[in-house]
Amino acid sequence: MTTRQSSPGSQSKAVADVTHRIGGQGVAGSSRKQPVFNPATGEVTRQVIMADASIVDQAVAAATAAFPAWSDTPPVRRARVLNRFLALLNEHRDALARCITEEHGKVFSDAQGEVMRAIEVVEFACGIPQLLKGDYTEQVSTGIDNWTVRQPLGVVAGVTPFNFPCMVPCWMFPVAIAAGNTFVLKPSERDPSPSIMMAELFKQAGLPAGVFNVVQGDKEAVDALLEHPEIRALSFVGSTPIARRLYQRGAELGKRVQALGGAKNHLVVMPDADLEQAVDGLIGAAFGSAGERCMAISVAVMVGDSAERLMPRLIEQTRNLRVGPGMDPEVQMGPVVTMAALERISGYIETGVREGARLVVDGRGVKVPGHQSGFFLGGTLFDGVRPEMTIYKEEIFGPVLCCVRVADLHEAVALVNAHPFANGVACYTRDGRVAREFARKIEVGMVGVNVPIPVPMAWHGFGGWRSSLFGDMHAYGEEGVRFYTRQKSVMQRWPQAAGGAEFAMPTTK
Ligand code: NAD
Repeated sequence: MTTRQSSPGSQSKAVADVTHRIGGQGVAGSSRKQPVFNPATGEVTRQVIMADASIVDQAVAAATAAFPAWSDTPPVRRARVLNRFLALLNEHRDALARCITEEHGKVFSDAQGEVMRAIEVVEFACGIPQLLKGDYTEQVSTGIDNWTVRQPLGVVAGVTPFNFPCMVPCWMFPVAIAAGNTFVLKPSERDPSPSIMMAELFKQAGLPAGVFNVVQGDKEAVDALLEHPEIRALSFVGSTPIARRLYQRGAELGKRVQALGGAKNHLVVMPDADLEQAVDGLIGAAFGSAGERCMAISVAVMVGDSAERLMPRLIEQTRNLRVGPGMDPEVQMGPVVTMAALERISGYIETGVREGARLVVDGRGVKVPGHQSGFFLGGTLFDGVRPEMTIYKEEIFGPVLCCVRVADLHEAVALVNAHPFANGVACYTRDGRVAREFARKIEVGMVGVNVPIPVPMAWHGFGGWRSSLFGDMHAYGEEGVRFYTRQKSVMQRWPQAAGGAEFAMPTTK
């Protein structure tokens, strides 16, 4: 289906609708729609149909109907479907990456990297027979054995952010489905198409109808999912206020919720660090994906005299960043996702100046020839940032790097540990003892030593601390499998004859 849509600087033209995917079919449903932009051109390229509660009901009904047969399917046969899905993802990975660049704006090589990180979680989920193995104790008492198994929960849901439209959904649905659950995904309304592509590939891989469903939408759909009595668990990744609210409401409803929130990641540069490596780490991690990564570095903590040596290089490289459309192979940083994001980030830059930080590189007003209506912002660098400033306290989620100066490692660790966000952190040093001390004392979920973006591999699990994650379990890895399954303990005996009722608490005989 197509609708006519006009966008800034363009004539009215027909664009396709992005629909829901329920029971293996595209479903149009409600008439509420929202434009999807190409951030590099500012044009509306599609319209996403926003689900209401009745669409969510349909999706949950399809998932509920599919659950008995899917959960009864032996794990090794479920793994074979995942293996075929994996092969199809590999075959179509550039098409997926192009779609990400078109709707999100990140450069194509970065989008390819995102797809690869998604694929790694599917590779992990293919090992589900091994991951679901229970344990067993023979003869816990005379003639009695005891074992534990992990069983799927039922219908589970995932709600994902705009910044990784392929990777973050893959943190959830491949693991949940491999474990025997059926799934309803609500991707970001800003870049909804990669999820539909993945659902189509999963269907081609032989996934039965109803096991994986996608509903498009916003708060209305998310609330309908969370409140739905058939939804047993919700995985959320997005901003902290929403993560906190969903976690609290989920607890009231007695549901499992893992809710990953926002971030303010620090990179600490010790005076002994290799400065070129540190500058490369800072520039790539601050401005890659226009700073729209939950593991982006947004604070450089310069210890001792490292600042004097770092600043000139940081200024030069920030000024020289090549900003432009993500499909241009020469470009290092694409646009931000929407005009609203551009305005929000520009507002933070304004606030930083007003509160007294030194704006040493200002990315506002950057011009990309031929892309006047794109949502572009250049790399922005602040020096002299202090902990009480808004730009230090809040998540900006854009290409803005704040530099803070501290005297020593102790002060750096105290600064990081006092921040409400605690997703990722890095330390650049050539001293093994400093590195060890840092990794032990830092109170953050994911730590890099000379690694600026320490996103854990698929079998290690992903998650922050404090306001960056509400819940007990990290995403994917073995924690993901535990989140999507519940433990059952079975005790069994086969006596030859009745032994008479026992009134004392049973103990080992
Ligand atoms: P967001 O919180 O605006 O949206 C996330 C999801 O929630 C989307 O699917 C959206 O439709 C839905 N949503 C929006 N408003 C809602 C509401 N009021 N109630 C219920 N659901 C709602 O986040 P975003 O802008 O898409 O993504 C950026 C944020 O995500 C940043 O804060 C970033 O740090 C965070 N993030 C965190 C991680 C992590 O692993 N911790 C990973 C990626 C992104």
